[in-house]
Amino acid sequence: MTLTKPDTHVISLDAYVPLLGAPEIDELRVLAAQLSGRTVQMVNSTAMGGGVAEILNRLIPLMQELGLRPRWDVITGGEDFFEVTKAFHNALHGGPYQARKENFEVFLATNEMNRQRLQFDCEFTVIHDPQPLALIEARTRQEGHWLWRCHIDLSKPNAEVWGFLRPFVYRYDGALFSSPEFARQLPIPQYLSYPCIDPLSEKNVDLDPAVIQEVVERFGIDPSRPIITQISRFDRLKDPIGVVRAYKIVRRYMDCQLVLAGGSADDDPEGEIVLEEVRREAKEDPDIHLLNLPPWSATEINALQRASTIIVQKSLREGFGLTVTEALWKKKPVVASSVGGIPAQVIHKHTGLLVHSVEGAAYQIRYLLSNPALAQKLGEQGHDHVRENFLITTNVKRYITIFLHSMQHS
Ligand code: UDP
Repeated sequence: MTLTKPDTHVISLDAYVPLLGAPEIDELRVLAAQLSGRTVQMVNSTAMGGGVAEILNRLIPLMQELGLRPRWDVITGGEDFFEVTKAFHNALHGGPYQARKENFEVFLATNEMNRQRLQFDCEFTVIHDPQPLALIEARTRQEGHWLWRCHIDLSKPNAEVWGFLRPFVYRYDGALFSSPEFARQLPIPQYLSYPCIDPLSEKNVDLDPAVIQEVVERFGIDPSRPIITQISRFDRLKDPIGVVRAYKIVRRYMDCQLVLAGGSADDDPEGEIVLEEVRREAKEDPDIHLLNLPPWSATEINALQRASTIIVQKSLREGFGLTVTEALWKKKPVVASSVGGIPAQVIHKHTGLLVHSVEGAAYQIRYLLSNPALAQKLGEQGHDHVRENFLITTNVKRYITIFLHSMQHS
């Protein structure tokens, strides 16, 4: 497990005022004052890689500045555990899965080991995603509020895996989902909470053009020709092979380069295998840049997104798709699959283009390459949409509101 270089970038709330206006930040402070000194524990399964870690990295310091006392714990587990939870993840997204009894045993044993290892004494405990779900066993008293923050699409889960996890979910005080369509019928309160990006983080902050150029050149990409990019972990559900195929169709008609940039997450053991599959599909095309990035590549990702002509997110399933949010914030035209939380972000023909197939993706990429004025308009409208709905300040406010609601209803 690599735990190096967290985002140490110190950003105060005042720094958001020029972007969002003073009233927005004042409102946040007033709301948060009601929770001053309250303890919050966030628990997830990876400190780096993937959208959840990305959000927690910024949420914790902002809650702290607002007077709450948050802490972030990461569960640990062996390879067998992360293989099981990755299989659960795929199955909950609706993929086929034949669960064995041992899979459930590994899941429970690792959760139990973490229950003993970690301390649970906060007023608000937020458990992220299914991996640490069974930590609810640590709840020995009724005081304190336990919330399950589910980042994945649960609309069509594999019945066996969901049947196993569901009794744990029922014991929480509430569940938070990234989109109304993701929710299940549950006997506990459900809250909508969109994921978010931090406009001032290293990943999203404005960059000097010289930095962008340096990064692009370092990776051997030609800045003078169109660049089509997908940033994602090398995961089959992100369909990197579909992206290569769409690019190959586009290349029959137009000049462009493809950048597939990703790394792995500590809780995802499949990355290397998928990268190898993509290498085979790319067949040493010099215009396909497969970049296996280390986890501390925020500036590189920021620069690659900014240097791109079009950003693609051709996922087969998706939680929310923070890479789409990041691209829209950078005013990039986005071509993305109509799955998971993507349609909440990409409103077809208004903030980007939605697609349903490799051929559809190729068609829309060609369309945007031939219509730069439309591409620019989509990007600008996308930026406004993110500003209004998917920034970290909105997310903090949502947590505070949910905590307050939870206090009033317990
Ligand atoms: N990301 C990264 N390095 C990579 C691939 C992705 O830092 O090699 C970041 C990406 O910029 C985004 C997050 O990880 O902030 C991925 O979130 P998303 O919701 O798109 O997908 P997830 O990986 O959570 O399924």
